[in-house]
Amino acid sequence: EELYRIEGWGQPYFSINAAGHITVSPKGDRGGSLDLFELVNALKQRNLGLPMLIRFSDILEDRIERLNACFAKAIARYNYPGVYRGVFPVKCNQQRHLIEDLVKFGKPHQFGLEAGSKPELMIALALLDTPGAMLVCNGYKDREYIETAMLAQRLGQTPIIVLEQIEEVDLVIAANRQLGIKPILGVRAKLSTQGMGRWGTSSGDRAKFGLTMPEIIEAVDKLREAELMDSLQLLHFHIGSQISAINVIKDAIQEASRIYVELAMLGADMRYLDVGGGLGVDYDGSQTNFYASKNYNMQNYANDIVAELKDTCTERQIPVPTLISESGRAIASHQSVLIFDVLSTSDVPLNSPEPPQEGESPIINYLWETYQSINKENYQEFFHDATQFKEEAISRFNLGILRLRERAKAERLYWACCKKILDITRQQDYVPDELEDLEKIMASIYYINLSVFQSAPDCWAIDQLFPIMPIHRLDEEPTRRGILADLTCDSDGKIDRFIDLRDVKSVLELHTFQPGEPYYLGMFLNGAYQEIMGNLHNLFGDTNAVHIQLTPKGYQIQHVVKGDTMSEVVSYVQYDSEDMVEHIRQRCEKALEEKRITLAESQRLMQTYEQSLRRYTYLNS
Ligand code: PLP
Repeated sequence: EELYRIEGWGQPYFSINAAGHITVSPKGDRGGSLDLFELVNALKQRNLGLPMLIRFSDILEDRIERLNACFAKAIARYNYPGVYRGVFPVKCNQQRHLIEDLVKFGKPHQFGLEAGSKPELMIALALLDTPGAMLVCNGYKDREYIETAMLAQRLGQTPIIVLEQIEEVDLVIAANRQLGIKPILGVRAKLSTQGMGRWGTSSGDRAKFGLTMPEIIEAVDKLREAELMDSLQLLHFHIGSQISAINVIKDAIQEASRIYVELAMLGADMRYLDVGGGLGVDYDGSQTNFYASKNYNMQNYANDIVAELKDTCTERQIPVPTLISESGRAIASHQSVLIFDVLSTSDVPLNSPEPPQEGESPIINYLWETYQSINKENYQEFFHDATQFKEEAISRFNLGILRLRERAKAERLYWACCKKILDITRQQDYVPDELEDLEKIMASIYYINLSVFQSAPDCWAIDQLFPIMPIHRLDEEPTRRGILADLTCDSDGKIDRFIDLRDVKSVLELHTFQPGEPYYLGMFLNGAYQEIMGNLHNLFGDTNAVHIQLTPKGYQIQHVVKGDTMSEVVSYVQYDSEDMVEHIRQRCEKALEEKRITLAESQRLMQTYEQSLRRYTYLNS
């Protein structure tokens, strides 16, 4: 368990059972669990190939419950005379089944949706039917966006148009004049409090979205002139996603609550404060302010927001706002697990090194002597020697002095030296800087049936760390250390950063792969942002996705969303598979005519080609 720190990032949903498999407890501590390895096998028997995304809707429900419970507890603790009404940012995961579940599970809490674009607004308007739930309208807006949101008020929805650009104020005023509907408006403030890490630039004066303080005043003046001051009811900010340090959240809420009371004092009819997203996920389970973690829990987060607002509003005798948060990552990450299999492995050549033979180059002798003499005292110095001898062997080969067989032997000896040195460094507390990369250089490569670009784009694009581990054989000691290489013909299509107690480690502890035996790995906490940001590099398409819900008797497969077929992915780049088949048929006929192919061969080619187009884009292992 410690190797993968599953207790840190997995609780209360993922753990290891006596069979050495991962157990999923989708309802958290409320009971009910299933064996992930057995589930994958059962799904495979239903003809669902790997890679496969498994979504646990009970986890989604549990996340919504938890967030609402934390705010309810904070509200009770600080005697906050207001309520919490969360919204889910649709951009975080737009999949229909997920949004439908979210609206359903959110009903008891009047949980709403946040749209960040026109298409997301369309989804939110169509799906959100919870009376009293908020529909926060963010992102760039045109007249059509604004009018649609305003008219939706007539359907009993509560769309709040958040002004993110100063130009939007005029658009809103014009729409109000034309439609005669009073909009519910918010302003997004560019706070000076700067988030940290990867999304730190989401705030500050030069942030992409939001109004600066002078622009807020300009907006207020324009709204006053248009007699729309009572429409201005919400203040929004978002200082970035995955905020790792609680003090950043505290600073932001302090600044925002001041702006909130000032807006109320300027005459706006302030009712809502929307604290945006940012609630972090502990991807590495370290509970620190490291970027892949967070040094606070959901309760600390809710407490700090509620307490600060209560204080500031009480001090200025302003009624406290209804609190809105737009947590995406913290709601959607845990519910999906990506399962993929290992196809093969590759290692540095490590078969037993052989002593030099008569007549072989002296360089082989030097390397052999180095290999034999490496010990705890000299390993650092002998690493240099071995490296130098290996380089010399390559130069001699390039000059034509060393034969290919000798070069191969020299390289094998070099790797044997490295292995001996690595074994020594593994027993030391301190690893010299220059030897830090040795672990990675010596790592086995595990080829995985997956496209990083399609299924975990953040690993590639922003060095995001997701917990990755085998989902079975966990009662067996992993004796190998490896990195993962995906199916794409792209050297960036790899995963070579994994969670570690110190910060990031470059190898993953794995079991020996036996060809023909299944070896399944799981990538966890990847339910936010990955699916929609994934791309079709090398035309690897969407993976199969399965929705699982616990039942009193076990579980039920609620939905199966089949991954892309080859025919579908080629159509995204404007190919017509029927045309393609016809091209091949014509070529077969020509080849038959010219007697380059037999009829049986051409039939077989046609059959395979046509079948392939209907198949999954991943390998059939
Ligand atoms: N709200 C806005 C305006 C955002 O830009 C984002 C994402 O960056 C979110 C909410 C969701 O943030 P998170 O996933 O950190 O909760």
